[in-house]
Amino acid sequence: MKTVSIVVPCFNESEVIDTTVAELMSVTQSIDNYQFELIFINDGSSDDTELKLLVHSQKHTNVRTISFSRNFGHQQAVSAGLDVSTGDAVVLIDADLQDPPRLIADMIEKWQQGFDVVYGTRINREGESKFKLLTAKWFYRILNSLSEVPIPLDTGDFRLMDRQVVDHLIAMPEKSRFIRGMVSWIGFNQTSICYERSARFAGESKYPLMKMVKFGIDGILSFSVKPLKLSIMMGFACSGIAMLMLLYSVYIRLLTEHWVSGWTSILVSILFMGGVQLISIGILGEYVARIYNESKDRPLYIIKKSRESDVAKADANVK
Ligand code: UDP
Ligand code: MG
Repeated sequence: MKTVSIVVPCFNESEVIDTTVAELMSVTQSIDNYQFELIFINDGSSDDTELKLLVHSQKHTNVRTISFSRNFGHQQAVSAGLDVSTGDAVVLIDADLQDPPRLIADMIEKWQQGFDVVYGTRINREGESKFKLLTAKWFYRILNSLSEVPIPLDTGDFRLMDRQVVDHLIAMPEKSRFIRGMVSWIGFNQTSICYERSARFAGESKYPLMKMVKFGIDGILSFSVKPLKLSIMMGFACSGIAMLMLLYSVYIRLLTEHWVSGWTSILVSILFMGGVQLISIGILGEYVARIYNESKDRPLYIIKKSRESDVAKADANVK
């Protein structure tokens, strides 16, 4: 019998976790002919997510809990889940039930038809702010136009991947991980299923604006060197404008009477050049920072052992 691993990253998801486990349990039990392994990664939660997860792993033999030593981030949590997964296919799903677990059955069906990656494309998103909808929409479009490999639009990490894809993903050593892009890069036979993304079941988003911006920048810089080329383009544009200014100032100096004026154009051009140079240095800096991070070669995450008192508490809860 084939096994499917389900990887669920959890960061302060105490409010939703029991429902999520129950939902995943009932969905997986309704799918015949497959075994399921549920892997929950507690990404340094400060609430009692870990304790609740421990209770579930005590109760159900096919539930595993991994805890990080601190909050390492969503992509790292997913990577840890992939690293320990043993299934013939792996499903990535959020803990907040925004991605409907019932779609797992459809994903498995597509997988059986011969697709190696089945990703969920959001055709509608409920319960998100206008700002998030708009920025997400534009982000995926800009990313796609910059990236050297096509990255599907409006697609998150909710997906099923065949073992061979997972093995290639695990073998990719990069530290700035933008998993949805890396899977596109890997290739194989990929397809999508469309779904309406519902609102969070409970709790609030664990992606505040700054985390989202960082994630977006990671995505773009990991999948494109075009921003570096942008500096060259800006350089050419500025040089062009500077040439015109030069001709203009020579003209003013030689052929007109008012050549002392020109303060404004000097100021504007200095400020403009300064701005362009700073932007270019900033872009360079972003790439250098990434090279620096990669060269440090630190592990992606650190797993801790759960405290004995917590395990005992979980035990007591089960009995
Ligand atoms: N998450 C995580 N670590 C983090 C942030 C988020 O493991 O640092 C998990 C979170 O628990 C959830 C998933 O990643 O299961 C997606 O996060 P969230 O639902 O908050 O993002 P949104 O859907 O708002 O983009
Ligand atoms: Mg969510």
